[in-house]
Amino acid sequence: MRSEFGKRTKRDAYERSEGLCEGILSSGERCCANLKHKRYHFDHVIPDAIGGDTSLQNCAVLCVECHGDKTIKIDIPVIAKAKRNRDKFRGIKKRSTFACSRDSRFKKKINGEVVLR
Ligand SMILES: [Zn+2]
Repeated sequence: MRSEFGKRTKRDAYERSEGLCEGILSSGERCCANLKHKRYHFDHVIPDAIGGDTSLQNCAVLCVECHGDKTIKIDIPVIAKAKRNRDKFRGIKKRSTFACSRDSRFKKKINGEVVLR
């Protein structure tokens, strides 16, 4: 489930933005599009899918262009990467190299001696 920003957070974020888009362009500069005459979105700086919260710090006011851009260029690769890392982590946990595990070439005898299978 997506976590959304509260009314207060949105209002505070909009005040902080001073009505100008907080998106960062590929040049590294702030977009600053005037939001008074545009549609805008409240965006999770850290996507909620990977644990971003709904605090003011994690809330960016973005014009439609920046929001669209960020979702395509940043959020999707970031989320994909986070999912990959999670899978990798699971993989590591699954492939245990512990001496007496079934997948291991070694077997631990009851007396504690480790031998090749
Ligand atoms: Zn923008």
